Amino acid sequence: MKELVVISGKGGTGKTSVVASFAALAENKILADCDVDAADLHLVLEPDVKEQMDFSGGSEAVVRAEDCVGCGICAKLCKFEAITQDGPVNSSGVKTFLIDPFGCEGCGVCVEFCPAKAIDFEEKTNGESFVSETRHGPMVHAKLGIAEENSGKLVSFVRDKARKLATERGVDLVIIDGSPGIGCPVIASITGASLVLIVTEPTLSGLHDFKRVAALTAHFGIPTLVTVNKWDINPEMADRITALADQGGVKVVARVRYDPAVTQAQVARTSVVEHATEGIAADIRRLWEEVSAEL
Ligand code: SF4
Ligand code: SF4
Repeated sequence: MKELVVISGKGGTGKTSVVASFAALAENKILADCDVDAADLHLVLEPDVKEQMDFSGGSEAVVRAEDCVGCGICAKLCKFEAITQDGPVNSSGVKTFLIDPFGCEGCGVCVEFCPAKAIDFEEKTNGESFVSETRHGPMVHAKLGIAEENSGKLVSFVRDKARKLATERGVDLVIIDGSPGIGCPVIASITGASLVLIVTEPTLSGLHDFKRVAALTAHFGIPTLVTVNKWDINPEMADRITALADQGGVKVVARVRYDPAVTQAQVARTSVVEHATEGIAADIRRLWEEVSAEL
């Protein structure tokens, strides 16, 4: 089975527009939206949810104030400084300790060493994942809970689910809308992938972002392609990115022009290649031909 991951150095480069068009063009595939912090592939593909699962990225420690003896051992041991003596005074007159749920990293140390066994450690729901049907085939996607940060684990969960679904259905291609940036979620999106396509823009920040993500894929030894989106806005910068890619062993594939058809397609909740046949739609078709030939 092949996994193609489409990534960018930051959000808003047109990555999801490219993935939505690939979804329309690729024959037999499973789609996975691993941009879980800003999932928007569903806006174009309008999934019909068939299966929903809660996702837990770990456990959360909570002090039972009535059982706390106020010794403070937990606060001394917590490396994340998530515990303070800000709990209520309990019925034994003890000023108790309290754990900040946003500071707790779920390591379990305080639970283990509390002499009064006064700390609960329950699995916490961080988000939901879904298996849906779309007009372009099955899609696995997810929604992270408000203020939740376990997106690396959720990305791995979505990828695993997409791979399992592909095996079950005898499909040999998974197309992934990867997370932007270079942090934990994007690493979870690309590790072990067959091919990465970087979508970048012809700006100075696009150049820097390209360098950073290309260094990441090189580090993991993943074959990498790059396309410059809206290349005609700044052809000189597009050439600089292309030259840099050549030097770094990243294969340059078809460029994509700036075209208002992208916005029109977004408003119509459809992909660019379904919305138009000329202009950018022709660029993306060429891009898909070149990318699929590398798979
Ligand atoms: S270690 Fe246990 S008993 Fe001691 S302050 Fe913390 S929660 Fe309370
Ligand atoms: S589980 Fe770990 S991170 Fe959370 S409060 Fe306890 S010691 Fe701190």
